[in-house]
Amino acid sequence: MKYHIVTIGCQMNKSDSERLASHLKSNNYIQTPYRKEADVVVINTCGVRQSAEDRVYGLIPEIKKENPGVKLVLTGCLSERQDVLKRLKDKVDIWLPIKDLPYLKDKLKIRSDLSKTLDSNEYLRIKPELTSFFSAFIPIGNGCDNFCAYCVVPYARGREVYRPALEIIKEVEEIVGKGYKEINLIAQNVNSYVSVLPNNRESHKYFHSLGPKIDFAGLLEAISCLNGDFWIRFATSHPKDMSNKLIKTIAANKNICRHIHLPVQSGDDEVLEKMNRKYSSRHYQKLIDSIKYYIPEASITTDIIVGFPGETREQFENTVNLFQEIGFDMAYISQYSPRPGTSAAEMKDNVPPEEKKKREKELTEILRESAYKNNQKYIGRRVKVLVEGVNKKGEWYGKTDTNKNVKLNNMGVDLQVGDFIDVTIDEIWDFGLSCCPKKP
Ligand code: SAH
Ligand code: SF4
Repeated sequence: MKYHIVTIGCQMNKSDSERLASHLKSNNYIQTPYRKEADVVVINTCGVRQSAEDRVYGLIPEIKKENPGVKLVLTGCLSERQDVLKRLKDKVDIWLPIKDLPYLKDKLKIRSDLSKTLDSNEYLRIKPELTSFFSAFIPIGNGCDNFCAYCVVPYARGREVYRPALEIIKEVEEIVGKGYKEINLIAQNVNSYVSVLPNNRESHKYFHSLGPKIDFAGLLEAISCLNGDFWIRFATSHPKDMSNKLIKTIAANKNICRHIHLPVQSGDDEVLEKMNRKYSSRHYQKLIDSIKYYIPEASITTDIIVGFPGETREQFENTVNLFQEIGFDMAYISQYSPRPGTSAAEMKDNVPPEEKKKREKELTEILRESAYKNNQKYIGRRVKVLVEGVNKKGEWYGKTDTNKNVKLNNMGVDLQVGDFIDVTIDEIWDFGLSCCPKKP
């Protein structure tokens, strides 16, 4: 039997798909890159924005048309929504809330060693079938307790749960031992991570002088001390919980990537309050100042929502000002769309679509300028790059620890995906860098 998984959405969804794949593989299913020849197609859905939801509605008839006999499984964020279930009931064969993974075996008539009452930690402990051989996503937790007014994640993924530090460290140690070069620690809010260590000495060998309670900075520090040549990335950080201790930990450990993704969502205090973000633009600005002071080489990226209910032109201007002051390297700018069940869905979505579009465009222009300006410091600089692959035009590419894309032109040496190489940057764009071979 053959399976194919379509993953839409965030890194956590990608990681969920890897656990789903390992479950299917251990039941003798073989992965196929072609939807057409699969016996089972799983759509791992995202419900964060209306556009992601609409993609699923388009995809289902497309898959059914090209492969009429296929068993279609729907999982991910949308599998928690009753209104979506009602709409898709007759179009999908298996409805699979991610926490019900063990039931897949009954539905597909396959064997499983998983218990039927899988709690979040047991679920995260399922060994994933890693997609890449050099970069791994490691969930350190799941769910979210923050209930930002616009966001569906706490409803889709449930309450915040974190994995024990020792379990995470041992998993990272094993993966790094296999030669992985990039470890991505993921959770909805990594900054509220906490783990209590068991009271025995052996277990403390990873933690050196740290106390019995491990926060995210402690976890990062312990992982960064593991043997091996590898980078550590993490996402997502919440400004209300990010500490100076964390910033100093990143500064002190060179294998923690110099890239901080810190979603601000808005630069206006009233909008931030209505969004239930629990910080002010001043607090955000101070965090950025601290990052720039302790890690001057860091790139800083963010998420923004334009057109939140009631956002006036003046309030939007505060976001514009924040964008100009900070000078982000990248930003994911979303036009607000109401999500069923969230508190913002009760508010009037009164910013017209064309105004949302205009605001998005305005911020994108500022972003292009700031990103280009930030990239100028790379010209002539020697940087370490992780080689990631070859694009459709046959050009090699990779990434710096600051998360900048690098085109690797005419290197004159055999490149290997998953290798670290040192290159000199000789050309820049707004969202990329390029290098020539080392000059004689
Ligand atoms: N846990 C992360 C990201 C959650 S969702 C965080 O706390 O930032 C990813 C991004 O989608 C959010 O940062 C936000 O910018 C965007 N988003 C979430 N809900 C949205 C909505 N209803 N409309 C538009 N964008 C939304
Ligand atoms: Fe959503 Fe807010 Fe939780 Fe992020 S912190 S997942 S935006 S509720």
